[in-house]
Amino acid sequence: MPTYVDPQACNACADVHQGPLCVYICPNDLMVLRPDLGKGFNQEPEMCSECYACVKLCPEDAIHVRGYADFVPLGASVQPKRVEQGLRWTVRFRDGRELQFTYPSRTTPIGSSQPYQGFTEDPVHDLRSAALAGESQWLGVDRLPTVQRS
Ligand code: SF4
Ligand code: SF4
Repeated sequence: MPTYVDPQACNACADVHQGPLCVYICPNDLMVLRPDLGKGFNQEPEMCSECYACVKLCPEDAIHVRGYADFVPLGASVQPKRVEQGLRWTVRFRDGRELQFTYPSRTTPIGSSQPYQGFTEDPVHDLRSAALAGESQWLGVDRLPTVQRS
């Protein structure tokens, strides 16, 4: 479900010295700032990969998503928001009812990560390997084939 910016809620990240955070974080360069309006917007929603990085970073909770028909009935609004446990979704139906649910998506507190947790590789040696962390483990082999250079 692609994102869109609520212009009433967007303040162009006025309190953030790096500038508009959604513009900074979008991996597809979809989020832009209209200088004449001073508002961010998703310039090409059909190209949105729905990563929700912009949603998680927006300090004003100004980013909503266009709910697909198999997710919400016509006319309902859908707003995800980052919370401590993951993403909390708020759905507001046309009759005024509101539904909230949270998808847990974190195993560590916000602002922390343990990238090699559960992997057996030596992280330093692995920097010189072409394989991804855990690749042989997930493929069920001891070692991945490598190109032998003479
Ligand atoms: S991150 Fe939020 S407040 Fe900042 S420009 Fe984007 S939509 Fe507006
Ligand atoms: S959800 Fe991801 S791809 Fe879509 S506009 Fe936001 S940051 Fe860009």
